[in-house]
Amino acid sequence: MEIRCSACGKITLARAEPVYEGFKKTGEVFLCTGCGARYASAAETPFVQDQPRPGVFTAADKPRPPSVFSDDERQRSCGWCRHFVLNPFSQRCGLSNKETEATDLCVRFEKKAATPDADPAAPTP
Ligand SMILES: [Zn+2]
Repeated sequence: MEIRCSACGKITLARAEPVYEGFKKTGEVFLCTGCGARYASAAETPFVQDQPRPGVFTAADKPRPPSVFSDDERQRSCGWCRHFVLNPFSQRCGLSNKETEATDLCVRFEKKAATPDADPAAPTP
């Protein structure tokens, strides 16, 4: 149980100490093993793993926005898939039977058979 002790400012270990009222355990206090500072409850104890750690994630870890999909990736979306079922009430995947968006990407993608007018950008043979 690592804490960043607010009394001594160091990362130390906390020691839990049960609190009794008569013979009944009513809670736990936490003691800093470095300086002996006392925290009345777990909620007040500055446990290290509960602290946010800014700076751990770099910009590269962020998911890319959908707008940067290349054409090839875009065409792996449900709207281009032969399993995509479109009806007046919903659009769903014919494989999983789950509701889906035309822009969703799917590992079970299978491109639907090309029709002459399906993709105006495709080169004509
Ligand atoms: Zn301390």
